[in-house]
Amino acid sequence: MTKPLDRVASSVGSRVSKREMAEHVLRLCEEHSINIEWSATRKAWAAACFELIHIPPVRSSASYAIALHEIGHVLGPHQRTSVVLTAERGAWRWARRNALVWNDTMDRVMRRCLTFYEKRPNLRRDWRPIFVEEPDQIDGERGA
Ligand SMILES: [Zn+2]
Repeated sequence: MTKPLDRVASSVGSRVSKREMAEHVLRLCEEHSINIEWSATRKAWAAACFELIHIPPVRSSASYAIALHEIGHVLGPHQRTSVVLTAERGAWRWARRNALVWNDTMDRVMRRCLTFYEKRPNLRRDWRPIFVEEPDQIDGERGA
């Protein structure tokens, strides 16, 4: 039998189920009127100007992290800067602050994504209103 206290603990500890993660993403998008376009591949992107994110279904910590990150491109800080690295960091900051849980897998996905942009600190956003995550950044998906 699950006592109320256990349920509270599970929502702040590391034992958040994948179902809870998926529901959290849906709830956030509903609350903030963000449209979700489901990706059949591991591609993910956000079009902040259209309040639209394109994400794989949330079935793991890795895809949860990516989903939160894309929402962060819509709701997070520094999303209007032309410096891509700054915008990426802002979106990850938002993801971490708003996650029900932040585990090693999620941290690995974040580090991999940020490393990609840290190697390209001069990358500027030009005409693209869309943040595209490179597919190989979402490799944390495996076994997560
Ligand atoms: Zn991004």
